Amino acid sequence: MEVGAGTGVICILGHPVRHSRSPAMHNAAFVDQGLDLVYVAFDVAEVHLPSAVEGLRSLGFVGANVTAPHKEAVVALLDETDDLATKIGAVNTIVADHGRLRGHNTDAEGFLRALERGWGRSPAGARCLVLGAGGAARAVVAALVHAGAAEVAVHNRTSARAQRLCSDASAWSTVPVQAIETRELGRVTAQVDLIVNATSIGLAGTFKAIPLPVDMVREGHAVMDVVYSDSMTPLLKAAHGRGATVIEGTEMLVQQACIAYGLWTGRDAPVELFRNRASSD
Ligand code: NDP
Repeated sequence: MEVGAGTGVICILGHPVRHSRSPAMHNAAFVDQGLDLVYVAFDVAEVHLPSAVEGLRSLGFVGANVTAPHKEAVVALLDETDDLATKIGAVNTIVADHGRLRGHNTDAEGFLRALERGWGRSPAGARCLVLGAGGAARAVVAALVHAGAAEVAVHNRTSARAQRLCSDASAWSTVPVQAIETRELGRVTAQVDLIVNATSIGLAGTFKAIPLPVDMVREGHAVMDVVYSDSMTPLLKAAHGRGATVIEGTEMLVQQACIAYGLWTGRDAPVELFRNRASSD
């Protein structure tokens, strides 16, 4: 459909944002489903985030995605957030309703769907290790405890941040969530079923970097990387070579986008089209 005076606008706010695959995915879906919507990307520096969010209201946007580094800062700028986004303390999807902005977090459910699809089972009862303690890690830990994981260990470069996440998570469920130090990584990794990289390590630019010693990975482990790239990340390549089940972050990107699309349009997203656009530039 041609962009016209009545076209609804959805955007992504991030910094940087040029690498984002979300515009290609959502615009292809709007065309596929004949919706009079368009999705654009805005590179917004931290200092301009409040005025950008105010612009969503004043310009009558349909909604938005929010990506790094704004997912946590945007929470205070919205009219309301749903329960999950409030717990996680991070929003990646905004729905505008007559100027009221409601924040959601679709990363948690997107992670869970991608994990279950790639692993072929739910994390219920699983012992899990999460690497990282930023916005993505908070969504991953929330998803794991809500799905009934047996226990979750969190390791992060900045251990105070891991401890803060674990302390917050203790209010989310009765699942034990514990911060661990580098010296404990070998022992804990040997005991877990699932390892999730939710650090930024593995993104293009940190090429070849791996977030934990790969000789700790064994056959029988499931290893998921939330970082996505055109090919497997170095962690997943190494884990695959050691016989582990590997799950790529691209599917999480697809699944979180499907949920956001449903919130904005009330429709089921064309998931195969999303997969196709998520993995090609
Ligand atoms: P944040 O900036 O909030 O957190 C980054 C995390 O990575 C922190 O735990 C940080 O540790 C750690 N980290 C960064 N660099 C290093 C390093 N050199 N060595 C060790 N640890 C490091 O980012 P997000 O949590 O929002 O995003 C993390 C990744 O997840 C990104 O690559 C993002 O693209 C991806 N992501 C993918 C999604 C998907 O749909 N597949 C959805 C959401 C995110 P510290 O606290 O010490 O700084």
